[in-house]
Amino acid sequence: MLSANNRTVRETNVTQDEAIGQAKIELAAALRWAARLGYQSGVCNHFSVAVPGRPDLMLINPEGFFWAEARVSDLVIAQHDGAILTENGHTVEQTAFCIHAPIHRLLPQATAVLHTHMHHATAICMRKGGTVSPSYLSAMSFYLRIAYDRGFDGPALTPAEGERLAGLIGDSFVLMMENHGPLVIGSTIGEALLRLTYLEDTCKMQLMAEAGGHELSKIPTQLMAAIPKDVPRFKNYGRQFMAAIVRTLQREEPDFLT
Ligand SMILES: [Zn+2]
Repeated sequence: MLSANNRTVRETNVTQDEAIGQAKIELAAALRWAARLGYQSGVCNHFSVAVPGRPDLMLINPEGFFWAEARVSDLVIAQHDGAILTENGHTVEQTAFCIHAPIHRLLPQATAVLHTHMHHATAICMRKGGTVSPSYLSAMSFYLRIAYDRGFDGPALTPAEGERLAGLIGDSFVLMMENHGPLVIGSTIGEALLRLTYLEDTCKMQLMAEAGGHELSKIPTQLMAAIPKDVPRFKNYGRQFMAAIVRTLQREEPDFLT
């Protein structure tokens, strides 16, 4: 018969195992969904999430695979220093430990860290002094929460670069890296992925609306400022968005669960 303490330990482990299993499902699903949206460039870039109950570890996509191939069993659990703990034979590309790991380590709110070179947001990053205009409804959720990196220093090949980026993010949840691309953080994978899609939609529409030199209509600052900094409704949207993606992929690409 289990003592109360043993039962607590066992229940805690089951809960943590279930949480890790759910994180793997959501990360594989997020990668496949982002692939559908055309956000991947080559076999590069990473989506990572802190391992539930182990914030010193991250769960991340393996090196050399298309996001469209993502499967639960191919994901990798790694230490921030680059050590791979998963025994599935996969490696993780170096920049993951130079961008993602320091951000997870330094920003506890960055449970999920998503970095892409998705075309429209990256095009804004390529503009001298480029900013996301507060001109579209979805841009309201980014008000005062976008940080801009104007200090491009080549590919991120040392953890010091990730530490510099974490310092720029502060309490923002989007980082637009000049000459490079966007990075989005979130308290859940679904929340971060929803932000990523809103960011790309916002940037795409901005570029379309500006085509031909048209001036953008700016949403008044008082309306933007009326949006609370931490919107519970957005967090709920993120959960619903993730659940809808998992349902769709279970029906159309069930091998992501293998
Ligand atoms: Zn990059």
